[in-house]
Amino acid sequence: MLVAYSFIGLSCASAAPVIADVQIAPGATSTRIKLIASESVSLKAFVLSNPDRLIVEGPDINFQLPPESGSMAEGPIASYRYGSVSPERSRIVFDLAKPVLPGDIVTTPSAGGGAYSIALYLTNSDRKSFEKAASATAEAMLKLDAGSAQTSGPLVDTRPLIVIDPGHGGNDLGATSPNGLFEKDIVLAFALALAKKIEAQGLCRVALTRDQDIFIPLDDRVKFARQRGAAVFLSIHGDTITASNEIRGATVYIGDDKSSDADAARVAEYENKSDSVGGVVSQPTDSTIADILGDLTHRETRIRSSLLAREIVTRIADTTHLNHNPLRAAGFRVLRAFDIPAALIEIGYMSSKSDLDQFTSPQWTDRMANRISDALYDFLLPSRNGGTLAQDTGQP
Ligand SMILES: [Zn+2]
Repeated sequence: MLVAYSFIGLSCASAAPVIADVQIAPGATSTRIKLIASESVSLKAFVLSNPDRLIVEGPDINFQLPPESGSMAEGPIASYRYGSVSPERSRIVFDLAKPVLPGDIVTTPSAGGGAYSIALYLTNSDRKSFEKAASATAEAMLKLDAGSAQTSGPLVDTRPLIVIDPGHGGNDLGATSPNGLFEKDIVLAFALALAKKIEAQGLCRVALTRDQDIFIPLDDRVKFARQRGAAVFLSIHGDTITASNEIRGATVYIGDDKSSDADAARVAEYENKSDSVGGVVSQPTDSTIADILGDLTHRETRIRSSLLAREIVTRIADTTHLNHNPLRAAGFRVLRAFDIPAALIEIGYMSSKSDLDQFTSPQWTDRMANRISDALYDFLLPSRNGGTLAQDTGQP
C-alpha cells in the first residue's frame, strides 16, 4: 500500500498527533504493524487475553484513518479499532486470530519529510507464552490501580470507571425464588464476579455500590456513581413473575421517563419500591436528583445508554437465554443519572428454574461476566463504526 500524505494542514488543525494509516504486513513467523503519524509518538504495546488482543497505547491521538481500515483478511490480526480512553490517552486495539507477542517499536521520519513511520514488530507465539505475557499485563495494571489509590502523586489511574450496582441488599431482599433464594444475594454474587472479570481484563477500573449485604437507597447509588465520575453505571437485578415459571431470560433496560411497554413499566415500578421496602423515604425534591432530572432530555446520554444496552445484549446472546424482547426502557429511579450511560440488567428470572440453575452455575457466571466485560470494552473502545468515544472526542 502506497501512502503519500501531507501533514502540513493536519498538524495545524489539532494539537494531538495524527495517525493517518495503519499498515499490517503479516509474515511466516512475524508481523509488522506500521503506523503513519504526523509526529513521533511515544507508544507502548501489550497483550491481553480473553479475548486475545494486542493493545497499542499512546497519548491523545487524532485518528484520521482511511475508511476501509479495520478488518484484515489474513495473518494473526483479525480486526482493529481505536479511540480515546481518556482525554489524555488513546488506544488501538487489535483483535488477534493467533497469539503474538509485541517486540520493538521503531520510529523513523519518512523520506519525504513531515510524516513519521512507527513500526511495531510482532512475533508469533504459543498459547502458554501469550497467556504469561497477558497475565503480566493484567497484574501490572492492577498494581498501578493499587498505587494510585495509596498516593496522591503523579500516578493517576485514568482508566474509565465502571460502577456496578448490585440491586437491593440488607432488609430489602428483592425477589424470592420458589426455593427460597433471594435476589439480593444472587445479584451480589454476580456483581462480584463481574467486577473481578473487568479488573482482570485491566482496561477499566471498577467500583461497587455495595460489596456486602447492606441496604443502600436508590438515590445514593446514583450519587455514588456521579461523585466518582463513572464512565458507565450498571445495575444488576433478577426479574420475577408470578404468572408463569416458564418465562425466562435476560433483559437489558435503559432509563426513560416513558416505558417501552407495560412489562417494562411493571419491572421499574417493582424495582423502584426498594427504598420503601428498605425503610427509607425517597426524596423526590433532593437537589442533586432534581438537577439530574433536569437532564432528562439529555439525548446524547440516552443514545449512549442505548448503545451500551445493545452491546450487552449482542454480547450475551450466545451465553444466556434472552427475554423475547431483551432491549427495553422504563423509568428506573436508579438509572436517573442522565449524564452517565447507564443500564439495568435483569440477568434472568428468579421465578424460572432454568434461570436459577444458571445463576448458581460458576461456568455460566464466568461466561456471562466475560461477555458483559467485553461489551463494556466494545462500548468504551469502539471501532470507527458507531463508536461513541471516538465521536465524542470531536475529531473529524
Ligand atoms: Zn431487583
